[in-house]
Amino acid sequence: MRPMQNSSRLQNIRYDLRGPVQHVAKQMEAAGQRILKMNLGDPAPFGLEAPESIVVDMIHHLRGAQGYSDSKGIFSARTAISQYYQTRGLMQIGVEDIYIGNGVSELISMTLQAFLEPGDQILIPSPDYPLWTASVMLSGGEAVHYACDEENNWWPDMADLESKITDRTRGIVIINPNNPTGAVYPREILEQFVDLARRHELVLFSDEIYEKILYRGAEHIHTASVAGDLPVLTFSGLSKAYRMPGYRAGWVAVTGKRSDTADYRESLELLASLRLCPNVPAQHAIQTSLGGYQSIDDLVKPGGRLAEQGELACRLLNEIPGVSCVPAAGAMYLFPKLDPAMYPFDDDERFVLDLLEEQKILVSQGTAFHWPEPDHFRFVILPAEDDIRDAVNRIAEFLAGRRRT
Ligand code: PLP
Repeated sequence: MRPMQNSSRLQNIRYDLRGPVQHVAKQMEAAGQRILKMNLGDPAPFGLEAPESIVVDMIHHLRGAQGYSDSKGIFSARTAISQYYQTRGLMQIGVEDIYIGNGVSELISMTLQAFLEPGDQILIPSPDYPLWTASVMLSGGEAVHYACDEENNWWPDMADLESKITDRTRGIVIINPNNPTGAVYPREILEQFVDLARRHELVLFSDEIYEKILYRGAEHIHTASVAGDLPVLTFSGLSKAYRMPGYRAGWVAVTGKRSDTADYRESLELLASLRLCPNVPAQHAIQTSLGGYQSIDDLVKPGGRLAEQGELACRLLNEIPGVSCVPAAGAMYLFPKLDPAMYPFDDDERFVLDLLEEQKILVSQGTAFHWPEPDHFRFVILPAEDDIRDAVNRIAEFLAGRRRT
């Protein structure tokens, strides 16, 4: 038999967050080395576990969750999600507007597959969460990146965004709070997105999975709550604030004028039914999660573990000569810059690999997030304080040996 061929559709698809660097790290671990992992957006390995009441509730439902559910998800969970949004400014939303999926990841690809024609363009922030770019390309579309401005809290550069709109542009992706920058967008920015989308007849894809992870008084505003009758897809789920990414529970809410989204909803429902249904036990965790005590608040308030770790990491990184870091207003990441005059790396994957091999610490290279220059890296703030101190010391030592000026 001929060797199996691989699809040309995958030719330019990359997901470097689980790529060659992680492969090397795994080999090092298999050889018995201990690696400080500052690259994982998964709370579980760092002692940040799911609230006990939610786990108990899921166990309670396990026996009754053996069969398939409705393709859009179980009614009680969808009702809980729509009621949650009703209390947060999305007054017109109903249970029929909610689609549950195996995490936001599955819904990103389903919603794009249902939407895109070959060659359609989607505007995606740079830096991005790279699944968005990969999913647009896998759906036959073209990912066009708009710049976010480090000098301005990592908020989007609206002039750059508008300059990239063409007659093939169909939608804009907004990641708020942002992975990897930690930015949280104020109302004015969201209104500018809405205004652009209205003028150019674009759909807004608003990834809000970090909506409850907010620091220093930052407020999260749902894009859909300022969008009126404009079509908006709002994504969220249990992976981050409820610390259960392994259970795979996410959702998308489709809002806007119903007649504008009717055909689209049919395609989405077809795709939802082709995959039968999302993981049923995890769906039973949704109502309890949204309705109960929000334990994430304890972690993000002043003095809370995540808030403290984020501040400590940012302060220590900023103390390294030639490293600058914007504090996170939300999410679980920092995206520090390496001054190119001091550290003229021309390949940031090489930088990350060298750091891994020499200092046994793993971060993610900025270009993995479609950042155009090899001068940034992502640093996750989930590990405990001692590990953060240790990690920053190792980065400082590594950089001291690479410094040019
Ligand atoms: N969107 C963003 C911005 C993320 O950072 C992540 C995971 O890191 C996801 C979506 C995927 O979430 P899920 O676990 O619900 O698939």
